[in-house]
Amino acid sequence: MSDAAERREQLKQVYLEASACTRCALAETRTTVVFGAGNADADLMFVGEAPGANEDKQGLPFVGQAGRLLDKLLLEIGLERADVFIANVLKCRPPGNRDPRPQEIEACRSYLHRQVDLIEPRVICTLGNFSTKLLRGDPTGISRLHGQPEVRELGHRAVRLFPIYHPAAALYTPSMVETLRADFAQLPELLAMEPPPQPQTPEPSEIEPIPEVVGDTAPEPAPAEALAVDAPPADQPRLF
Ligand code: URA
Repeated sequence: MSDAAERREQLKQVYLEASACTRCALAETRTTVVFGAGNADADLMFVGEAPGANEDKQGLPFVGQAGRLLDKLLLEIGLERADVFIANVLKCRPPGNRDPRPQEIEACRSYLHRQVDLIEPRVICTLGNFSTKLLRGDPTGISRLHGQPEVRELGHRAVRLFPIYHPAAALYTPSMVETLRADFAQLPELLAMEPPPQPQTPEPSEIEPIPEVVGDTAPEPAPAEALAVDAPPADQPRLF
């Protein structure tokens, strides 16, 4: 596809569309759409389940305890958030942190696929069952799959999919931190591999258009850092 700056511009359009999304009932209960954050040209993308209470308030993914563990595990392999892109299957918080429902996952799916198409990651780490099942299109659970990379086609991209346990699971089962750590240790090698061969580029007519933000519903007010996508001050956190 096009160069990184153009893909980032297109990602901004997807962000604006998602910010005003009313495709499912979660629009009525959310505070903020949690689109995802990080490097819009990242080689490594993480996909979690859905925003929790903290994420819903702040508009950023993985800002609670599970996020702190994710940061620590990243640091141990020499990476930080600014190097990767972190998104979720659902962009809005399910009330009470209940499990995502099939119709919500379906309604939100195209946002994730467009994120993958535009960010062009080489490796996607699915965190836990929901993202693993969605991106593999198969009900096999995370305990059978974690730590085993495989090449999969997602949207229009071939990527190395790498399922691992959700860091929140490790908060309650300390021995799981070691399993997560061992799986994380494979990431540098996966990232150093040649990208998988890409499927043929689709004809422009086959690419799902990014709809304009239409109607009289302006995007919800986003947190300051979310709007600061154009040259924010160097010390200011931003979405991507
Ligand atoms: N858990 C997730 O799956 N995603 C978040 O953003 C936070 C917690």
